[in-house]
Amino acid sequence: MAEGASIRIPTNLLPEDGRFGCGPTRVRQSALDRLAESGSSYMGTSHRRPTVRRMVGRVRSGLTELFDLPDGYEVVLGNGGASGFWDAAAFGLIERASQHLKFGAFSSKFVGVVAGAPHLEAPEVIESPRGTHPMPSPSDRIDLYALTHNETSTGVTMPLRRVEAEGLTVVDATSAAGAIMVDPRQFDVYFFSPQKAFGADGGLYVALCSPRALERIERIAGSDRWIPPFLSLSSAVSNSVKDQTYNTPALATIFMLADSVEWMNAKGGLAWSSERCAASAEMLYGWAEQHPMAQPFVSDPSMRSPVGATIDFRRPLSWADLAATLRANGIVDTEPYHKNGNHLRIGTWPSIPRSDIEAFIACLDYVIEASLS
Ligand SMILES: *Cc1c(COP(=O)(O)O)cnc(C)c1O
Repeated sequence: MAEGASIRIPTNLLPEDGRFGCGPTRVRQSALDRLAESGSSYMGTSHRRPTVRRMVGRVRSGLTELFDLPDGYEVVLGNGGASGFWDAAAFGLIERASQHLKFGAFSSKFVGVVAGAPHLEAPEVIESPRGTHPMPSPSDRIDLYALTHNETSTGVTMPLRRVEAEGLTVVDATSAAGAIMVDPRQFDVYFFSPQKAFGADGGLYVALCSPRALERIERIAGSDRWIPPFLSLSSAVSNSVKDQTYNTPALATIFMLADSVEWMNAKGGLAWSSERCAASAEMLYGWAEQHPMAQPFVSDPSMRSPVGATIDFRRPLSWADLAATLRANGIVDTEPYHKNGNHLRIGTWPSIPRSDIEAFIACLDYVIEASLS
């Protein structure tokens, strides 16, 4: 296997596009083409003028349609990505005490932000063994429940139901939004970045906010807590309703996000994209279950992510050699998030056609056979 990189996959087996990362993800060529075609009419123009504000408006109305948002919900945008939103939430959404379901790298990072905030109580943390998810535990002292719809680091998904309690249900949906079905009545905030299921670019956060969440944001903004202006959710809301952001956003990100949301809506919305992702992931899990050298990392089928399949391999196969061989053949970004297992993570996003998942499996079969012979 040391000569892994010398294995040449026959070109007739290769996928049309070699990008299988879990984030950033494959960007549709047609979106890039349309951005290039916009030439001098969009990029490099003011985000305070109608051309760009109309694009932000398309993002907001497209997402309202995609998620079928009830009256009173707002699509809020700000700079900083999902990581920026964690910081903003610590200042502007958590009143005193939050409860976090911690089951991977991303949910842990949000805990770290809150644990370090001097104006908040220590967060309540509920953990579960790697490859599973815990469940929330309603409590009177908690004013915000932090869930993660899809833990991208381990490839674990959880059912999304509102916590039956006074506190807000706030969901990190960075890798779920646009790829997993959701009922907006089950969350107060559903936040994400555009470079995962939407196949756009990073740097921006989007937060779908319920009336209860908007009320919380305004109440905290009106209190005597100091909030860094860049992280103010209240100013993110007041700018968003005017189709703007607090400071200059990356215009290409907004363009590609609008393009992607409209593409999904035209294809059949969230029902279409979630079905496509689930079917792709199912193909990979099914392949792994019947392969003598592989198995899905997540043993409970109901917890297996439909957008990023984590597949374990038996020795002598090694993830490092497999990923290096795939990469040498143009199939990139299948490396695991945690390097302490022997697995690959394969993105199964809306932008990836079924034929490329089939091709990926054929390539993996070829590489495994060549490695073992
Ligand atoms: C990728 C990811 C993040 C971080 O997103 P950024 O845009 O890089 O800040 C947070 N949470 C989850 C679940 C993710 O998958």
